[in-house]
Amino acid sequence: MILESIIVGPFQENCYVVGDEESKVGTVVDPGEEPTRIALLVEKTGLEIASIILTHAHIDHVGAVVPLVEEYGCPVLLHSEAEPMLQQVPTQAMMMGVKFGRVPTVDRYIAEDEVLEVGSLRLRSLYTPGHAPGHLAFYEESEGVVISGDALFAGSVGRVDLPGGSMEVLLGSIQSRLLPLPDETRICPGHGPETTIGQEKTYNPFLQGGGLL
Ligand SMILES: [Zn+2]
Ligand SMILES: [Zn+2]
Repeated sequence: MILESIIVGPFQENCYVVGDEESKVGTVVDPGEEPTRIALLVEKTGLEIASIILTHAHIDHVGAVVPLVEEYGCPVLLHSEAEPMLQQVPTQAMMMGVKFGRVPTVDRYIAEDEVLEVGSLRLRSLYTPGHAPGHLAFYEESEGVVISGDALFAGSVGRVDLPGGSMEVLLGSIQSRLLPLPDETRICPGHGPETTIGQEKTYNPFLQGGGLL
């Protein structure tokens, strides 16, 4: 499996370039900003980008979608419940005083528990709302990797003070969809360093006590 990441934009977001070494088919997950740097990373991997998939529609995860669609002519996929927020990104940007180009067109919705084939890779969508509406994580079981978006971070969880956020829903998502994965599963989050399911089960302060485990 090819799995490269790059930190982009003022929110220090992790964009992932994922693909299959043999077929060279790839996808870009959460291109948040800096399309030129992302395209250079893609070039380095030698992957043919066949899709752009989004964990959720916050501004820091979608800012480079339009220029990359122009570059690769590929479809954009996300969960249907994330689309209203995508349409509001220009308003978010204005309120935050940051620049935002055009809202990308969504080509297809990703269902819960859908398997997205990227060459021989099989990315299963895990429905994990609570940080944002329609939030998805993407799990490649045979590689033991989950791209967790802003649901679960090393030592923390996603913020819940933005529209559609709920700590109760978020902790429920983490407990039901992420913690059951094998302990050695690598977590590739939307911000900050990589971690593992076992590490977070043991040390993440948001996941201790309260009968959660
Ligand atoms: Zn977010
Ligand atoms: Zn984020």
